[in-house]
Amino acid sequence: MANSNIIALHHLNCCTNRPGVGRLFNERKPCRVVSHCILIETGSGLVLIDTGIGLDDMKHPERLGFMKIFIRPRLDDNETAIRQVQKLGFSAHDVQHIIMTHLDLDHAGGIPDFPHAKVHVLQREYEAAMMPHGFKENERYRKAHWAHSPDWITYKEQYNEPWFGFDSIKQLNGLPPEIILVRLPGHSRGHCGVAIHTSDGWLLHAGDSYYFHKQMHDIPITTPMVYLFQRFAHRHYQQALQTKEKLRNIVLKNKKEVKVLCSHGTQEFESLSRTQVQV
Ligand SMILES: [Zn+2]
Repeated sequence: MANSNIIALHHLNCCTNRPGVGRLFNERKPCRVVSHCILIETGSGLVLIDTGIGLDDMKHPERLGFMKIFIRPRLDDNETAIRQVQKLGFSAHDVQHIIMTHLDLDHAGGIPDFPHAKVHVLQREYEAAMMPHGFKENERYRKAHWAHSPDWITYKEQYNEPWFGFDSIKQLNGLPPEIILVRLPGHSRGHCGVAIHTSDGWLLHAGDSYYFHKQMHDIPITTPMVYLFQRFAHRHYQQALQTKEKLRNIVLKNKKEVKVLCSHGTQEFESLSRTQVQV
């Protein structure tokens, strides 16, 4: 793309989850479930999409609540976003913006490791995290992840023209026009995807809209554990399934123009990062 503000993308796995479910989640044994984050080098600094779990979570996993018993995160500092950013030769200060698909504990844990970054999120998701309702929301959001009072930038649901039929917010505060927020409702109150216009077309980080790459196939496959997990994790189950189907149709119809990945798709992560997730 001529004059693009996007210089490079780095695919980071910012926590390997190791649920003891054999092949039943993503057809891999032992089961390894990534937390796929993207670090974008732009003409005006680094932008991080989602943060995985952070250094303090690695040190004190009890702050993740009872979810840690199911997801069994690998507690390795080297998998945090901050350590991977440093390994690439940057510092925490270079990450000026973090865009959150949503604020679940396995996505927001790294926010405290970038205390100077502006944190972009849909207003509705911010409100859910600050004032959670009921058991599910009280478990999915962890106050420790924003105890340092991040510099939040929240967006009201005033949408620009749709992105492939989905509501979208363009011109994010201080960010290049190639990065937009795409509303993907169902998983949490204000769940969004982040679409990046690259030289190869659009790349959509679809957050937790789906969990396994074959759910986006011509003949979609949902494994038994993904099926169960979706029932438990989605706030609006039917709405989330509609979002997933709409997304699948868009991706299948626009194969050349749109590529998609989800937060926990291990196979997608390996193919985009050209690395293997460690057993
Ligand atoms: Zn997640």
